[in-house]
Amino acid sequence: MVGGGPAGLTAAIALAGAGVPTALIAGRAGRGDNRTTALLAGSVSALDALGVWPRCRAQAAPLRTMRIVDDTDRLWRAPEVRFEAGEIGLDAFGWNIENRHLVAALRARAAEVAELRRIDEEARAVAIGDDRVTVALAGGAELAAKLVVAADGRRSICRAAAGIETDSRSYPQTALTFNLGHAREHRDISTEFHTAHGPFTLVPLPGARSSLVCVVAPSEAERIEQLDPAALDEEIERRGHSILGKVAVEPGHGAFRLGAETARRFAARRIALVGEAGHVIPPIGAQGLNLGLRDAATIGELAVAARRDGADVGGARLTDEYDRRRRPDVRSRTAAVDLLNRTLLSDFLPAQSVRGLGLYVLDRIGPLRRAMMREGVTPRLAEPRLMRGEAL
Ligand SMILES: Cc1cc2nc3c(=O)[nH]c(=O)nc-3n(C[C@H](O)[C@H](O)[C@H](O)COP(=O)(O)OP(=O)(O)OC[C@H]3O[C@@H](n4cnc5c(N)ncnc54)[C@H](O)[C@@H]3O)c2cc1C
Repeated sequence: MVGGGPAGLTAAIALAGAGVPTALIAGRAGRGDNRTTALLAGSVSALDALGVWPRCRAQAAPLRTMRIVDDTDRLWRAPEVRFEAGEIGLDAFGWNIENRHLVAALRARAAEVAELRRIDEEARAVAIGDDRVTVALAGGAELAAKLVVAADGRRSICRAAAGIETDSRSYPQTALTFNLGHAREHRDISTEFHTAHGPFTLVPLPGARSSLVCVVAPSEAERIEQLDPAALDEEIERRGHSILGKVAVEPGHGAFRLGAETARRFAARRIALVGEAGHVIPPIGAQGLNLGLRDAATIGELAVAARRDGADVGGARLTDEYDRRRRPDVRSRTAAVDLLNRTLLSDFLPAQSVRGLGLYVLDRIGPLRRAMMREGVTPRLAEPRLMRGEAL
């Protein structure tokens, strides 16, 4: 396993926890960032089954209602759409948590798993042979394995070693991330304002706090980053139409240029891509890490089954099956996020009307809305066992 981000840690715990001897080449601890993750219900079930969730549940806030508000000023404006978790029999669609708490809980759990050895070094080179992969570490040592799970992020050296190419696209947008305190209660409601430059999404955190992802044009992002604290509070409150009352933005923020990148295969030559090594998608609709956790659960399930059957863990049968199982989930979500983002950015009237009509239909037709909610939380196409809370 290469990469000690949230996707790699989850895959390592899943594999080692099921008895597969695993080395996690975690790299050096990176610079912390202030991102949060809205973990959908299936991801929470998986983290619970892996013994991670009890360690961080108290730092997560439930998402019981999701609102989409058209804030575009355009001719075709969509109605406000509200999704209630109770409508599909769930207590919450998911839970929002700061990445630093999630990663701390994953690291603490990883330290307890007997079959897991964590190495805090970088992988420098990856050489693929017929029956094993050899990874050279920065300190000079080498490790060999039948299968390498590549969770080494968007510039994955494992993916490059396997010769897997990617398709990428960039968007004229920057996502700014902030955390903030506010005067009014959020009442477990997440609100996404759709503006002509991208979404402005407030997601509850425990107490009277929320996280914010504000997607704007890059020049506008630079302007906002320069604001002094009082002006920033005002700017954010204005953009959020004061729905949370007075806001106080906490120190520190993140800035991410938006892009999408998808591997052409999700596994080949004893390398299986997990998390952003396989797919990067814009932070719209909380899909990125939820996909990464489904990758982790799927590779765990396949490797444990192959080992139990005495098959080659890492052989073509396993990598082909992994690719087959992850492809529809990753591709359909990447396409949906791309379409939504492009109809937002488009000045083209038919594109705006398609988005408006889509939201109108969702607002009015209960069964369709419920089907979409269910698919968003637990995808039919790709539900590994861990997402149903079952052990591997
Ligand atoms: C603004 C924003 C908001 C988001 N919100 C959500 C959300 O609400 N819900 C959601 O599901 N997703 C969300 N995402 C996506 C989510 O943050 C990412 O999918 C997730 O962080 C990726 O995790 P990862 O483990 O795949 O990659 P990373 O976190 O990038 O981890 C890769 C790790 O590999 C290590 N590494 C790299 N190279 C090497 C090497 N050679 N040797 C050893 N280690 C190496 C790195 O140090 C790093 O620790 C958001 C993303 C953004 C930008």
